[in-house]
Amino acid sequence: MGAAPGPAFHALRLDGLQRDFGALNALKGLDLTIQRGEFIALLGPSGCGKSTALNCIAGLLPLTGGSIWLDERRIDTLRPEERGFGMVFQNYALFPHLTARRNIGFGLRMRGVPKPELERRVDAAIAMVRLESQSEKLPGQMSGGQQQRVAIARAVVVEPPLVLMDEPLSNLDAKLRIEMRQEIRRIHNQLGTTTIYVTHDQEEALSLADRIVVLRDGRIRQVGAPEELYARPAHLDVAEFMGYRT
Ligand code: ADP
Ligand code: MG
Repeated sequence: MGAAPGPAFHALRLDGLQRDFGALNALKGLDLTIQRGEFIALLGPSGCGKSTALNCIAGLLPLTGGSIWLDERRIDTLRPEERGFGMVFQNYALFPHLTARRNIGFGLRMRGVPKPELERRVDAAIAMVRLESQSEKLPGQMSGGQQQRVAIARAVVVEPPLVLMDEPLSNLDAKLRIEMRQEIRRIHNQLGTTTIYVTHDQEEALSLADRIVVLRDGRIRQVGAPEELYARPAHLDVAEFMGYRT
């Protein structure tokens, strides 16, 4: 796989991103610019709007207001497949009737990538997530950690401009979570992808991200590098959430 995935862009920009569900304002106007190559953690307690934001960026949920931009190109009007972002979900969402290898190759096949190139890229992705010995298994024959490796390989093998992960490790046990954390960061570094990683786990965000976006009740409360957020939380609720005892 190449080093620079997807069409080149400099920045993804959320401009006043809003999403309502009936009378509930789940996202109350998010403004955020993410630079190409960054690893961003979207951090906040359950119900604060993390998945809603990620699904809006992916195109799985229409916006109620605001816009999303890749450089000068407005993308919130595009369908999910036109955006072509890689998604990794909490529940893996693999095709149960396809082997690991075929799950990983699915997106390349859909894009009509010729077979020799497809096989080469799938092999590289399988090696990257260290699943060489498992590639002919069905998802139901694999452990949770192995299934999530398949899901990660499937998301990145098409070299998407942006990889979106929604609590990808929350179904795994504590030991595997820490192992997979390192794995995810290694893959991000290796491919030079741009990643938005949703989590409610402060430790995960602190150890993974270049920058953390703290979301609370549908609003961005603070944005900063891990050390900055930890040392200088801008609000009491951020301090409490980052693990300070007050
Ligand atoms: P998080 O991922 O941070 O836990 P969500 O983005 O899932 O939070 O949800 C944000 C808020 O929007 C919550 O109050 C949730 O109940 C509500 N919500 C999310 N999806 C829907 C939906 N499809 N219909 C109605 N309310 C929703
Ligand atoms: Mg969620």
